[in-house]
Amino acid sequence: RANWSRALAIYHDFRDGCATPLHRLRQVVDAMVVEMHAGLALEGGSKLKMLLSYVDNLPTGEENGLFYALDLGGTNFRVLRVQLAGTEGRILQQEYEEVSIPQALMVGSNEELFDFIVAELASFITREGEGFHPLLGRQRELGFTFSFPVKQTSIDSGNLLKWTKGFAIKETEYARIEPQEVQRSFKCCTSTSWNRRALLCHVVGKDVVEELQAAMGRHKLDMRVTALVNDTVGTLAGGRYWNEDVMVAVILGTGSNACYVERADAIPKWRGVLPKSGSTVINMEWGSFWSSHLPRTPVDDTLDADSLNPGDQGFEKLISGMYLGDIVRRILLKMAEEAALFGNTVPSNLFIPFILRTPDVSAMHADESADLKEVTRVLRVVFKTQASLRVRKIVVDVCDTVAGRAARLVAAGVVGILKKIGRDTVGNIDMARLKNNLAGKGRKTVVAMDGGLYEHYPKFRTYLNDTAVELLGKEAAEQVAVELSKDGSGIGAALLAASHSQYS
Ligand code: ADP
Ligand code: MG
Repeated sequence: RANWSRALAIYHDFRDGCATPLHRLRQVVDAMVVEMHAGLALEGGSKLKMLLSYVDNLPTGEENGLFYALDLGGTNFRVLRVQLAGTEGRILQQEYEEVSIPQALMVGSNEELFDFIVAELASFITREGEGFHPLLGRQRELGFTFSFPVKQTSIDSGNLLKWTKGFAIKETEYARIEPQEVQRSFKCCTSTSWNRRALLCHVVGKDVVEELQAAMGRHKLDMRVTALVNDTVGTLAGGRYWNEDVMVAVILGTGSNACYVERADAIPKWRGVLPKSGSTVINMEWGSFWSSHLPRTPVDDTLDADSLNPGDQGFEKLISGMYLGDIVRRILLKMAEEAALFGNTVPSNLFIPFILRTPDVSAMHADESADLKEVTRVLRVVFKTQASLRVRKIVVDVCDTVAGRAARLVAAGVVGILKKIGRDTVGNIDMARLKNNLAGKGRKTVVAMDGGLYEHYPKFRTYLNDTAVELLGKEAAEQVAVELSKDGSGIGAALLAASHSQYS
């Protein structure tokens, strides 16, 4: 039988460790602002990389013509095309295809990999149907989305800096081990994340646009990569295309990241010619944000220690979809071991890292049935166990604690960005707008959100929005809107290819 008082004690300890009272969140907000300044001041000035995107033309809606995008590094590899028709016609048509990369290519050379990608792209282009028209005498242009930290040197060049979301193999190590072995060491991961991991081995430290463009040359594909785009930046662009008040974009999917529009004269580390618009987009890489004010428990410590990138991506490990499920599993395991939560023997599946996924957490958290049917189902399917109603209730409480902490921290991060750009109080909103040319002219500041965690987890979304209102106060919050802006990594990249076209 469960040792009920011990189980409750463990849960309460954990809950207290996760607590995010308002005063603490305000400290997180301020830490975010301080780190943003430090990261903008000089290279390596903060754990926040504050990477320059070299995007100084956000889409306006006036873009015209046919544009392509290639999305590499998310859950799927995708090719996409859009036919744009200015502010009246907008997006006349769009088409996309998802492609999986054959296992054999992942252990091959860079060239083979990029050749494969370009061959798929070329074949996609041959199927350019009715309604898609390249302008006469012009090259087709493409936006290349890469959802990992890339150090860019211009809008169309950049090198992969490091791995995130659990991607941790070095190229040299990778070459020395057999593919089967690599796969075994990642047995806890899905085949998709394995695909992405292998994919990235090829490109770390290289100019990804150069590699792609060279492969296009080998295939005699007359196409030009005009924009290298982080998925966060794509989301900002995609949101901005429809709404000029979009100033910030946040990805909440497997990983998490944010970007925003910053004044060029607020970026001391900027070298070279300042952008014509006077503003640019900063890719924060906020997954690596850290502050001593962030609530961290022993469970988070062990999750970090067992991860492929210990000590790194601290914020991401508290908030993103890759980790929330495993935090829940770890605390349930502790209660199972120390308080026999699931009976005298611990269900063996509870020991398997990442077996409980964030969608499962979301499903249990949303269970409103009196007897918690969904919780029963997840416990049966995932952990091959069953539990009394009382235990099922505590499982829901754990989900609530983990998701609540994450959502409230995301809200604090967003408010930190708003504070940095002077959009967090009613009074200074107009001043900030005057100084920022890329700033919209409307009344509002819009935060564009994308990613499976935000899109498919209603309770998470509610916590996030409520906390933003708590932090901003009702009046200032009325001038801020958080909106779902889907598929920035695809359409957003094509739009940036358009706004950075060689012909405009
Ligand atoms: P990616 O981040 O890999 O580009 P997505 O933006 O589609 O892809 O996000 C996928 C992630 O979203 C999953 O890894 C998962 O963590 C999270 N997710 C997907 N569905 C749900 C759900 N129903 N509830 C909560 N989180 C979800
Ligand atoms: Mg994505």
